Amino acid sequence: MGGMATRISHWVNGRSTPGTSGRTSPVHNPATGELTGEVELASTEELDAVVASALVAQLDWRHASLSRRAAVLFAFRELLHNRTKDLAQIITSEHGKVLSDAAGEIARGLENVEFATGVPNLLKGGFSEQAGTGVDVYSIRQPLGVVAGITPFNFPAMVPLWMCANAIACGNAFILKPSEKDPSAGLFLAQLWKEAGLPDGVFSVVQGDKVAVDAILAHPHIQAVSFVGSTPIAKYIYETGTAAGKRVQALGGAKNHALVLPDADVDMAADAVVSAAYGAAGERCMALAVAVAVGAVADPLVDAISARLPKLTIGDGSDPDTDMGPLITAEHRDKVRGYIDEGERAGATLVVDGREGDLPAQGFFLGTTLLDHVTPDMSVYRDEIFGPVLSVVRVDTYEEGLALINSNTYANGVAIFTRDGGAARQFQFDVAVGMVGINVPIPVPVSYYSFGGWKSSLFGDTHMYGPEGISFYTRGKVVTARWPDPATSSVDLGFPQTR
Ligand code: NAD
Repeated sequence: MGGMATRISHWVNGRSTPGTSGRTSPVHNPATGELTGEVELASTEELDAVVASALVAQLDWRHASLSRRAAVLFAFRELLHNRTKDLAQIITSEHGKVLSDAAGEIARGLENVEFATGVPNLLKGGFSEQAGTGVDVYSIRQPLGVVAGITPFNFPAMVPLWMCANAIACGNAFILKPSEKDPSAGLFLAQLWKEAGLPDGVFSVVQGDKVAVDAILAHPHIQAVSFVGSTPIAKYIYETGTAAGKRVQALGGAKNHALVLPDADVDMAADAVVSAAYGAAGERCMALAVAVAVGAVADPLVDAISARLPKLTIGDGSDPDTDMGPLITAEHRDKVRGYIDEGERAGATLVVDGREGDLPAQGFFLGTTLLDHVTPDMSVYRDEIFGPVLSVVRVDTYEEGLALINSNTYANGVAIFTRDGGAARQFQFDVAVGMVGINVPIPVPVSYYSFGGWKSSLFGDTHMYGPEGISFYTRGKVVTARWPDPATSSVDLGFPQTR
């Protein structure tokens, strides 16, 4: 302990609020290995107090007019846009990703805020005049109440923004439980919400670990839970939350493939695959972890990828010349390194070995690794590694590549590289994956579509943000109305008819 570590608190009722549980978790700067903070870990009682303040705040907030809510969102959008650099620095100092990448995640999160400013339009219902004689029918969407978001370490600003902008726009109070590995970005968002004029208690941050998560899942006054993280925890959140009667969307892990056809532009494919495999040191749920090379493209593709890797600068993400930063923790770095050992032992060809070479002495760094001749039985292929490791699997045909992708348990994102429009269209039709890129390596949908994978990459029925986000954070109500008209009034014990 250096003695310099700052206390990272909760945010309750519009204020930074010190914890009372006596439990904390260390926060490091992954580029230096230095202990920079101690984050509070909430007890069940502390979570209860946050929910109590959110409940009171939501009762008022649901009365706020749509134009007032939109005005708060516009103000928040401006603040977030203007303070991007400050937030990016916070993200880089706790996560390790390079500053430009941190700014990129904020920009993608900002899109969700921009989408939510359209809430007056998004909450429009339907109206049917004269559905029966003298009877009108209309639909409205109402907020759920208090909702919670539990988020992963790898996008400490974007993923909370996927959730909170729509949740708040729809009239809910939102409680964020950030990753304990990089908890400060959530507090920065809380400060901006306050400056934007959001009433206290509508956005809260509860720092914590499994204790706080289990308290959220059990709390009778939390109506819905949005989760993004690894598959085993996503499954647990979904099963526990729905058993407690909550609405749950739980996004899990990934193993994203790039299918490279023989006619692909090899340089374009190699640029895209390198960017998507090694960006953010591979710690993205939409990272490309496997290149499936069809036929004769394999040798030129592997050559083109390996030629690009020595040009990447690995170092502290706050240095503008750095391309790739460190991994999140020393333990995670060692786990990723263990996968490279296993791949080598299982017979994969180590074209580029990230365990070797010049890496900064301090911090949680690992170089880029390229494994060729990987086969589906190897753990480097089967497991989500979440590090700067790309596996190349060689297949003879499109059909073989497609079958491999469709038999994977994960199904978050996928990309195809080809010049053949017909082949790309066939792939889009055939592939059993939630988000598809055609010569686009990281097909994260824009904010007016929704984000979500299939199979063990998502538990629940609703994808995140966009139209499905609005639907997730509201409940539908349909009103059937008649106004007094003596001409049509009578006693009738039959079932209501519309004719
Ligand atoms: P994680 O599952 O370890 O943690 C996610 C959240 O769950 C954190 O807030 C954490 O505090 C909490 N948590 C951890 N263990 C828990 C437990 N036993 N009980 C209850 N709560 C627990 O994930 P991570 O390491 O922070 O993030 C990386 C993972 O997230 C990867 O698997 C990645 O693919 C996935 N991810 C998925 C998407 C997506 O959109 N599908 C997006 C980003 C990240």
